[in-house]
Amino acid sequence: MTKLLIQQGRVIDPASKLNKVCDVLIEDGVISQVGTVSPHHARGATRIKAKGKIVCPGLIDVHVHCREPGQEGKETIATASAAAVAGGFTTIVAMPNTSPAIDQHTSVDFVLHRGRQAKLARVLTTGCITKDRKGEELAEMGMMQEAGAVAFTDDGTGIADSKVMQRAMQYAKMLDATLMQHCQDPTLFGGSMNSGPIAVRMGLGGIAPVGEEIMLLRDIELLERIGGHYHAQHLSSKKSIELVRTAKKDGLTVSAEATPHHLLLTDAACMTYDSNFKMNPPLRTAADVDALRRGVVDGTICCLATDHAPHTQEEKDLEFALAPFGIVGLECAVSLYAKALIDTGLCGWETVIERMTVGPAASIHSDLGTLKVGRPGDVTIIDPELEWTVDVDRFASKGRNCPWNGWTLKGRPTTTIVNGDIKFQLEK
Ligand SMILES: [Zn+2]
Repeated sequence: MTKLLIQQGRVIDPASKLNKVCDVLIEDGVISQVGTVSPHHARGATRIKAKGKIVCPGLIDVHVHCREPGQEGKETIATASAAAVAGGFTTIVAMPNTSPAIDQHTSVDFVLHRGRQAKLARVLTTGCITKDRKGEELAEMGMMQEAGAVAFTDDGTGIADSKVMQRAMQYAKMLDATLMQHCQDPTLFGGSMNSGPIAVRMGLGGIAPVGEEIMLLRDIELLERIGGHYHAQHLSSKKSIELVRTAKKDGLTVSAEATPHHLLLTDAACMTYDSNFKMNPPLRTAADVDALRRGVVDGTICCLATDHAPHTQEEKDLEFALAPFGIVGLECAVSLYAKALIDTGLCGWETVIERMTVGPAASIHSDLGTLKVGRPGDVTIIDPELEWTVDVDRFASKGRNCPWNGWTLKGRPTTTIVNGDIKFQLEK
């Protein structure tokens, strides 16, 4: 029997409403005790001293672009997986906008197989809602679910056709699967940053928040009539948060995400023409950032998700208007959430951890994200006081497209444990 004993850390498990200094024992890859572990039970265990640190369920990121198959120059499932554990994530959910897109069961098999081969984080995957993400014909969602797809999305693009979305919702409800939407009406899309005075001054085309809000509003209307579980990906605007808040109050099953960059940056950051501030949805205004933060704190947004989107240096070196959207996020996410939500006094670690464990787990109908006895031994240990400076050259991800390079941040995962095996240990 293999045993791992994590001693005397502050154990925070929001799913069990637990927040106290104690031990966690993992036996044969499964959580076996949380509390005071007797010397008898601890005999023969590998020990990790966690005094002064936070011990929490393994973090889950439901929005990761692993880029494989087809774009291995940007990232592979193995490198994304290495970046995940370095950032404290024990589970990541891959997005299907690869080439070819993950729109059939054989592609789902491939991603899961590659994830297992990497032997690092637990790699789960979504499947496309429509064939080749064209928004026209529904993909074989049932077969992909059987192969292991945990949710469905055409991420990168929203489903524009209301009739297609209606059918997708009916199917997803039948399958008891979550539909994830990248809310953006394509007819209202064009440009490379938030529309507004800064875009005008910079001479760049703008992407107005109404394109996000209008699709979200339509989807909520459909959901009210059809039912099922709807998940709004990477929301960026104040109005979107209000829409989700109202939908939840009305009893609809809606979950939503926020990214580190939308919680910390505004479109003013684009003024340098640095393409590491170009993402989709774009950075908005201070009022949007504020609304997003409040949405995370009050639970309107139940998932913190990175939208980790690696690109090659050559691609990101293009001028702002031509460079691709997206930045990497896995390896500094925890510190960034702490900066946006804890350092600002809006909430404590308990809330941040809840939005990185039970929240995302619920959004994919998974029973991960807790330290309850009998569950997989996925644990993240965080040093809340550790200061460090982001250095993209030390990333495990292939992506160097990161606006946080050189930032000094506080609070960082030091150990990542998956199924009772230590997959990452921060070097002293
Ligand atoms: Zn997206």
